[in-house]
Amino acid sequence: MLDQKRVIDNFMEMVKISSPSKKERKMADYLTKALNDLGLEVHEDNAGKIQGGNCGNIVGFLKSNSKNKKTIFISSHMDTVVPCEAIFPIIENDIIKTDGTSVLGGDDKAGVAAILELLRVIKEDKLEHPNLLIIFTIAEEIGLLGAKAFEIEKYNVSYGLILDCIGEPGNVIVKGPTCASGKIKITGKAAHAGGEPEKGINALFVAAKAIVSLRAGRVDFETTANIGKITGGEASNIVMPELEMSYEVRSLSKEKLENLLKETLDIFEKVCKEEGAHFSHTIKKTVFGYELGSDEEVVKNIKRACEKLSLPFVQTSTPGASDANVYNTKNIPTLNLAIGMSKVHTVEEFISIKDLISNANILIEFIKGYKE
Ligand SMILES: [Zn+2]
Repeated sequence: MLDQKRVIDNFMEMVKISSPSKKERKMADYLTKALNDLGLEVHEDNAGKIQGGNCGNIVGFLKSNSKNKKTIFISSHMDTVVPCEAIFPIIENDIIKTDGTSVLGGDDKAGVAAILELLRVIKEDKLEHPNLLIIFTIAEEIGLLGAKAFEIEKYNVSYGLILDCIGEPGNVIVKGPTCASGKIKITGKAAHAGGEPEKGINALFVAAKAIVSLRAGRVDFETTANIGKITGGEASNIVMPELEMSYEVRSLSKEKLENLLKETLDIFEKVCKEEGAHFSHTIKKTVFGYELGSDEEVVKNIKRACEKLSLPFVQTSTPGASDANVYNTKNIPTLNLAIGMSKVHTVEEFISIKDLISNANILIEFIKGYKE
């Protein structure tokens, strides 16, 4: 049976373990031990070596103890965004938050906590289950790097669950975005800003002329675009010769993304040409979108679990990329579950105990009612 105190204690313990992206080693060791203690075969893959982190993905396998020999995977990510050097969680009534000096890291340790409780209940109550592949990934927050390096093809997986979305438990993500990002570079020409500015081409002025024509920010209900960083220039007395911008576009519609990206790049190209500057970019698709139908087995099985728990079941979409994008792109139907985490990626992040418990309950009901 689910043990509420155990879930809370485990969550409080895990959020105190600092695990920024590519530095998840302590969390990886903690989870390796936890999975070993629960009787899983555990190994660490080589994602850390591939992506330049201090550990790999932690992968646990629990062999089927039933007639059902399908393999399903359940996954959350180990890394958190910064600041997360030292985390001091506080419980206030039904809410777990921090002292305001760091993120909580409930994104995504709330997911991890639910998975570990599921495994404890399976063991204690001897629940029948199919083959279970547990994946705790690295570096999700900086581009889904762990999932991208994980060789899921090796496991003959039928479908999977990711626990990694904001929103009330019972909400499930059936549609995820396509994203493209990279750098835009404009090269003008340096000149003495006081002596002979007319001989220079100011890269920033060129960029500005292009930027006013761009469609960016909230472009439509399913499409956004952003310039998030600009670097360039030498000094106030030098006409800025060159600059680089970090740009991204994302959309639930692949077609809209492609059109907007082309339009954006065409504007930069045209303006640079007019102004005698040189334009180049490194923008490419980094995440591929997906859409799951209501008749997918994974959707139906989670729906049934939510109904059993009287949680409103809502199929929705998200503008955020998650590890689910990676596996869905590999044709493994993967449902991302909302787990109640709130104000994520800020020091005001919090989660309610009620939601922490609901997440574990959903997984337990999912396994209990698991049919072919
Ligand atoms: Zn997350």
